[in-house]
Amino acid sequence: MNRRDAIKTTLLAGAAILTTKQSFAAEAPPTGPFTLPPLGYAFDALEPFIDAKTMEIHHGRHHKAYVDNLNKALVKAPAPVAALSIEALLKDLSAVPEELRTAVRNNGGGHHNHTLFWQTLRKNEGGKPSGDLAKTIDATFSGYEAFQKQFAEAATKVFGSGWAWLVADASKKLSIISTPNQDSPLSQNLTPLLGIDVWEHAYYLKYQNKRADYIAAFWNVIDWEKVESRLS
Ligand code: MN
Repeated sequence: MNRRDAIKTTLLAGAAILTTKQSFAAEAPPTGPFTLPPLGYAFDALEPFIDAKTMEIHHGRHHKAYVDNLNKALVKAPAPVAALSIEALLKDLSAVPEELRTAVRNNGGGHHNHTLFWQTLRKNEGGKPSGDLAKTIDATFSGYEAFQKQFAEAATKVFGSGWAWLVADASKKLSIISTPNQDSPLSQNLTPLLGIDVWEHAYYLKYQNKRADYIAAFWNVIDWEKVESRLS
């Protein structure tokens, strides 16, 4: 290699490093307006019903990806839209420009659904709903066992990826619904009280294809006080 070639090689290598650095910088997601909320408890807090590794990956990677991709989409949104709360975005997706709507629906839904999911999980030692929530569930579904059966059935029947929900309408009437993908009940004018994530990423490490076993275990990790507070 003569001197001229050596200089050329050095320059090319420098340019390559610069290009790589720039492309990394371009790929770094914006840090707002939304941020990944802390889980609020240890990854192993729900063992043995939901394993620590699943919780770590589910929160740190899956939920984080929804937050990052939501922020990326909102960079292109008009300022008044980018300033909306996550609830406001999901309640009126028609306010989001059409070219961003699918990204906001999927990733905004993913962010809100998972935030609610972490908040309503707690090992309950066989606990059941109490107070007004218990009364409303009994009256609406003819008892807690009938409610459990209907909720489990909705979760079982989700084809592919999605969620089953206990929701309340504006008059606080309860019902059980399912949504595909990361669609939020908020987009149907319903308030989600409790949701079960039946995407395979929520249970595959421990339960593989046995979704029914994961759904059965779920009853042990519901924070009923939190669910009741969402109703009132
Ligand atoms: Mn999930």
